[in-house]
Amino acid sequence: MNFHILTLFPEMVMQGLNTSIIGKAVQRGCISIEAVNIRDYTLDKHGKVDDYTYGGGAGMLMQAQPVYDAYRSVADRIGQERARRVIYVTPQGKTFHQEMAQEMAQESDLIFLCGHYEGIDERVLTEIVTDEVSIGDYVLTGGELPAMVMIDAIARLVPGVLHNGESAQTESFENGLLEYPQYSRPEIWHEKKVPEILLSGDHAKVDAWRREQSLLRTKERRPDLYEKYLQTCSVEK
Ligand code: SAM
Repeated sequence: MNFHILTLFPEMVMQGLNTSIIGKAVQRGCISIEAVNIRDYTLDKHGKVDDYTYGGGAGMLMQAQPVYDAYRSVADRIGQERARRVIYVTPQGKTFHQEMAQEMAQESDLIFLCGHYEGIDERVLTEIVTDEVSIGDYVLTGGELPAMVMIDAIARLVPGVLHNGESAQTESFENGLLEYPQYSRPEIWHEKKVPEILLSGDHAKVDAWRREQSLLRTKERRPDLYEKYLQTCSVEK
């Protein structure tokens, strides 16, 4: 899977994503990540990519031309079919969640568009963007962190990125529930003991305990998810 990030701060996204599990997956060739500097595509001789907004108001807006030409450089290189999904990260988009990550992980290529300042001229957004996605109801200074958050969540679902494929399947949200509590060595730490059942070696009992904990935890911490889970179960019956 190939991620293409249109940004004014390529070094920020590349530094963040080229580390740890995602960085190693890039080295192994499971995924590729490229950052395209929108500023390289401006026709302004001083390298300007933003201007005042029509109608007045505070702040600058990223102009359509450099964004469009940066997008075209990727689309022309990889081909229309592979460039079919362009995600503008914006607080005005649909809120990102695990199912969206699973769906996007099926694509061969994803193009991310990161805004900055007041955002981006609406005309280029209507022309190239297929998905508008927010990472939550708050406003950040730029789209680089949201793009990194989304790429991390999507990339770890691409086969081969995680060494242990199972770990993605048992994690929170994968089956509509939060994950159960987990423990590692030592058996006793600060007088707190690991639950006995986890030391029993009885896999069926461990699975049952984990499932119960998962249900309890979801009910307590995310009643909204729990309700949705119960509804899905009753529909499936
Ligand atoms: N003026 C815009 C508004 O009120 O909707 C906010 C612009 S924000 C300061 C600059 C850029 O940061 C946006 O264009 C977007 O790319 C990114 N951004 C900020 N908050 C975000 C969020 N919660 N989710 C996704 N992207 C966000």
